[in-house]
Amino acid sequence: MTWGYSQETCPHSETRQVWVEEEDAWSGEDISHWEDKWESWDVDIDIHRFKCTRCGRIGYYSGAARAFYEDGKRSPGIRGLE
Ligand SMILES: [Zn+2]
Repeated sequence: MTWGYSQETCPHSETRQVWVEEEDAWSGEDISHWEDKWESWDVDIDIHRFKCTRCGRIGYYSGAARAFYEDGKRSPGIRGLE
């Protein structure tokens, strides 16, 4: 399946409208409504990196993590990257 997103144009998240069924606890009135639900497409691929499931772009939780994975630079004191 192709999502049609390139890493440059992919929003890496979406806001969907979801129907929330709700009843006012006090009056019993039906107060069901539409709600915006923000959803990230990023999933963690290890403790310092995440990846967008739609376009495959990889992000880092810190500059030290980016330096480690892109340049192979180790940073003292960062778990897993020392
Ligand atoms: Zn993306």
